[in-house]
Amino acid sequence: MKRRGFLRGALASAAAVVAYSPSRGVWAAQPDPDTINIPDLDGELVLAGSLLADAADDFGHIISAAPVAVLIPGSTSDIVKLIKFANDHDIKVGGMSMIGNTHSCYGQSQVGGGVVIDMSALSEIHEITEDSAVVDAGVRWRELVQASLAVGKSPPTLTDYLDLSVGGTLSCGGIGGQAFIHGLQVDNVLELLVVTGKGKLVTCSPKKKRKLFESVLAGLGQFGIIVRARVRLVDVPPMARVYTALYTDLVAMTSDQEFLMDECRFDYIEGFAEPAEGGQGWIYKIELVKYFAPGDEPNDAEQLEDLAFNEGSEVITDVPYFTFVDRVTPQVEFLKQIGVWGLPHPWIDVFVPGSETDDFVQGVLNQTTLADTGQGPILIYPFKRANVTRRFMAMPDDETVFLFSILRTAVPPDAAQQLVDANRGIYEELRDLGGKRYPISAIPFSVQDWKDHFGGRWGSFVQAKCKYDPCNVLTPGQGIFS
Ligand SMILES: Cc1cc2nc3c(=O)[nH]c(=O)nc-3n(C[C@H](O)[C@H](O)[C@H](O)COP(=O)(O)OP(=O)(O)OC[C@H]3O[C@@H](n4cnc5c(N)ncnc54)[C@H](O)[C@@H]3O)c2cc1C
Repeated sequence: MKRRGFLRGALASAAAVVAYSPSRGVWAAQPDPDTINIPDLDGELVLAGSLLADAADDFGHIISAAPVAVLIPGSTSDIVKLIKFANDHDIKVGGMSMIGNTHSCYGQSQVGGGVVIDMSALSEIHEITEDSAVVDAGVRWRELVQASLAVGKSPPTLTDYLDLSVGGTLSCGGIGGQAFIHGLQVDNVLELLVVTGKGKLVTCSPKKKRKLFESVLAGLGQFGIIVRARVRLVDVPPMARVYTALYTDLVAMTSDQEFLMDECRFDYIEGFAEPAEGGQGWIYKIELVKYFAPGDEPNDAEQLEDLAFNEGSEVITDVPYFTFVDRVTPQVEFLKQIGVWGLPHPWIDVFVPGSETDDFVQGVLNQTTLADTGQGPILIYPFKRANVTRRFMAMPDDETVFLFSILRTAVPPDAAQQLVDANRGIYEELRDLGGKRYPISAIPFSVQDWKDHFGGRWGSFVQAKCKYDPCNVLTPGQGIFS
């Protein structure tokens, strides 16, 4: 459904907020002597209707915290006005990529009792130039790739699934199989337009208001709402040659992945654990991609030289670049059709120090059954620590880091809590080895856990919070300053 149509439909069942009662702490559709009027808005602040139910849910379907109102911003200035108002009246606010629900797993974007800003209402692609694009935070990566491919360009690192918002992934990280060359999506941003927690609209970049720029990227929504970003684009050839191959042994796959990272033969490296035949144990599948222009096809023998995969297990396929980067969409459509998309998703995504990867991942997999994953994918792939430049993107210290994700579906749904508990156990073991959590995961976290997570950067994180969001109005769902 087109975005405007969706919002019009949802708004039809919603009551517009016109006033707020500071003494009762409630929003009102009718003013009374106890209320003050909310600022004039270009968009709408709404009280009820399907938007509120959407804003109290996410892809995880585990945590549900209902906001009291949803802002459908008609302009950036609506966000400025709302956040200033929130500061004056101690109201919590958070951004959310709301069309079709948010993709967080554990309430990260929810604002219990506060106001959610539906960032999907601001979703324009403003400019595409030689090396960058200016987009609103509510733009989905798919929309940007479609537009930039028209001139042969793409963001260098893309998440596996493209239906994520620019503002959402820039607040968390944004990792994909190209990260070993280009870093994460947060490492490929040139400028941001941000509304800080104080309600100030600020343009920031590595040269201007650098501290704010560096805080907001991977800042988990704690310092400002990203309203617009200038993101890097690179030239891409129109085709992708996709190689997959199987390994019986995890160490053989991770060794090849590390070897290939240094060789730079491929544009993309990922890997998976898949159920072994008969459902007992795991086999490992590497996925490698080389982009190319027709007439300049890669030499397969050279591409696969010296790799130790199981003989004869390789599969080689050519697809258009867009089909490759959008490869998860057909799978998601299928999961929606069979009702799996709506089940709880207690995902765990962690960053493992390269030196610990084989033992740690193998140890976890030895204790993980197919039932524990609900047949969701398990990802294992490396990137270089040095390519991750943002100060609040917490990472292990090793030169090579592996993303390890168990993208669980809870079947039956009431197994979700047990799987969240299992995530916590895995996290604790990893933490003691110097690993870090990717904050999108479903792992219960205390304030002490967040201190451990940021380690030596915790002091700077707190300082940035005091400077940019001193009244602590922004993004309570992360549970960092609760
Ligand atoms: C099917 C699927 C596949 C995925 N694949 C990948 C992948 O390959 N790589 C990867 O890195 N991640 C992946 N993710 C995770 C994804 O990056 C996170 O869920 C992330 O939260 C982005 O989702 P979103 O755009 O829906 O943001 P939301 O979940 O709405 O928001 C995420 C956080 O950012 C805050 N936020 C949202 N918008 C703004 C804004 N404009 N300004 C400030 N803060 C904001 C929210 O309050 C929240 O705390 C995947 C998720 C799903 C469901």
